[in-house]
Parts: sequence; C-alpha cells; structure tokens
Amino acid sequence: MSFERFESKLWLATPTMHGEEQAYVKEAFDTNWVSTVGANLDALEKGICEKVGCKYAVALSAGTAALHLAVKLAGIQPGDKVMCSDMTFAATVNPVAYEKGEQIFIDTEYDTWNMDPLALEKAFQLYPDAKAVVVANLYGTPAKLDEIQTICKKYNAVLIEDAAESLGATYKGIQTGTFGAYNAISFNGNKIITTSGGGMLLTDDKDAADKARKWSTQARENAPWYQHEEYGYNYRMSNILAGIGRGQLLHLEEHIARKKEIYMRYKEGFKGLPVQMNPYMEDSMKPNFWLSCVIINKEAMCKQVRTATEASYESEPGKSCPTEILERLAEYNVEGRPIWKPMHLQPICKNNLFVTANGTDVGADIFDRGLCLPSDIKMTEEQQKIVIEIVKSCFE
Ligand SMILES: *Cc1c(COP(=O)(O)O)cnc(C)c1O
Repeated sequence: MSFERFESKLWLATPTMHGEEQAYVKEAFDTNWVSTVGANLDALEKGICEKVGCKYAVALSAGTAALHLAVKLAGIQPGDKVMCSDMTFAATVNPVAYEKGEQIFIDTEYDTWNMDPLALEKAFQLYPDAKAVVVANLYGTPAKLDEIQTICKKYNAVLIEDAAESLGATYKGIQTGTFGAYNAISFNGNKIITTSGGGMLLTDDKDAADKARKWSTQARENAPWYQHEEYGYNYRMSNILAGIGRGQLLHLEEHIARKKEIYMRYKEGFKGLPVQMNPYMEDSMKPNFWLSCVIINKEAMCKQVRTATEASYESEPGKSCPTEILERLAEYNVEGRPIWKPMHLQPICKNNLFVTANGTDVGADIFDRGLCLPSDIKMTEEQQKIVIEIVKSCFE
C-alpha cells in the first residue's frame, strides 16, 4: 500500500461541533446572559449531574480549577502528604503543590495504566498519615477504583478522582467522576466533549458544592458589601462557554461510540504486529476510549535514547520504538504523542517520594514503549487505514 503525506494534518483529538452548541451560545447573546450566570450554566450542571449520577456539579473555568478546589475541600495544608497518580498530565498533581502539600507518586499498573493499588497500599504502610489520594483515569480508562476506594477508607484518606479524560466511562456499571468525595472533569478543547476550555467539580456533598461555588466566585460573604473571610478565586465558567457544553452533552454517547470504533479499528489493524493497545479490564470497565494508544512489546523495541529534551533511536528490521513511529507519523503530517511522562521523572518533582509495588518502575517502562495515536472522531476509516500502514511500515 502506498500513501502520501496528508494535505491537512491528522490530529490526536480536536473539538467536534454539531450545531446545537452555537444555538445555545446565540441564546445567551440574545438574552444578554453574557456572564458567569445564566441558563446554559444551570442546564449544563444539571445535565452532567443526570448523566454522571452525582448530586452536585459546579461549572468552572478549567478541570485544573476543579482539582484545585477539590484539594482545598480535602483540607490539604502545607506539608500534608497526598498520594498521587504518577503517570498522568501535570494538571492532576499540580494543585496539591498550589496548597503546598507534598505529592507522593504512586506507580502505575499494566492492566489499566493507572495508579497501582498494590503500590498505594505500600505507600500508606510507609506514610499512614497521608491525607488524600488523587487518582486519574488515563486516556478514558477507569483506574481500579473500588480497590483504591477501599484503601482510602482503611487509611481515612479523602479520595479525589481526576476524571478529566474519562467523562462517560464506567467502572462496574458506575460512571467515573463519582468515586471520589470530590471529582473533576474537564471540557478542554481536546477532551471527549468540550466548552473550548472549562471543567467541573462533582460531588454528592452539598456543603462542599456550596463552598466550591463560593470560592470560585471570589469568596464573598453574605453581606450588603464585599465582605471577605477567606481567599477566593475567579474560577467560574462563563455562560457563553456553558452553551457550547450544553450542545456538546447531547453528543457525548455518539462521541464515545466513534472513539470506540477508532480503538477497535486500530486493534484489528495491528493484529500480527508486536504491539498492544492501551489495556482495560473488559469484565468491569467501559472506557470512553478518549485516546487510542499502543505499547510496543519489549522484544520488538529498537534502541531508543531520551535525554531531558531530545530523543533519538537506531532503526532495526522487525523492531521500532515510539520515537521512530512519532517521527514517521509526523513525516506524513499525522500527530502522535508520547505517553504522559511520569511525574517522578519530571525535574519539578525530583525531591518527591515515589513508591512502586515491587521495585519495578512500571510508569517509566510504559513511557519508554508507549505512544498515543490520532484519535480524532472526524478521522475517516480511509485515513485511519493509512495511519495503521504508517505504523506497520516502522516494523519493516
Ligand atoms: C485535561 C486534563 C486535566 C486538566 O483539565 P483542564 O480543563 O485542561 O484544566 C487534568 N487532568 C488530566 C488527566 C487531564 O487530561
């Protein structure tokens, strides 16, 4: 099969609009609710509560803002230890540092590429006074959430779920974004549904939702003037952007179905290649398949060297590596991406603790051998076939 460079770039994940979004935005203009109050905000919060099955949703300017307020709700004080997913986007763990908490990074397991409950248990045995756990559901695949929940109960730690990438995914039939006391979702432009930028804090605790609402709008007290007893933030979502989200929410299930098709096509297309798709536990999980990723079998890895900021490799017949595949994809105008580089390998976290289940650094291994493939739901079957052929060509 021969193929040419794509004329327009094939992206990892971009927004997919349907029309209703613009109608709701227009409604906001027409009624002049061009503000952080309005019908779109109310409807989006209500819609998410119904979809996810939580009692309260607070619409915010970003998923990161939701995580920050979650860390504050968990009562994290300077010096408090917080167990955090290690192989994730920095936004999962940065809010702990905003509150001067100390992140302890928990290694990853191979079944779901999320926080390893065994490593978490070990970390609590070492540091039983840790106050909270922040767990992310990577690439739309739930973590082993009930095992993690059980450990949190045992050690009396608050669970915060970062469901930024996993909206609509379920674990044992229950939606992600409901397992923590406080949970975050994101509507960033590349996520399963978007408001261009935005997020939400989800909780069943009315008091917590009220606090988050207050903090997100500069923490005004109930008084005739601007009265302040604590620090607040300007974290509320705009009613304009909520209109985009309100329209998008109508298409969440459709987006998930398209993402799943993409995942399954890659899986089928890579049969016979020494690679595996990003895994999930079929008996207990329904991911939202936000990003399709592959990991190259150990024996099929060619030599690859990564410094702090650069990568190189030595091509070998029958073998490849993420760097070669990413470079080859880029030649054809296709976007791919390395796996999230584990936080314990990041220079900003060089002084943090890192706990593995048995001494093996699983996160570093997945980072070494894995990569994300274009998973945009506007990618056609024909285009995806070519992406598959490009990846195959790397192993020739
Ligand atoms: C996108 C993302 C966030 C942050 O969400 P924003 O809305 O971009 O602030 C947090 N955690 C993970 C795992 C994410 O992918």
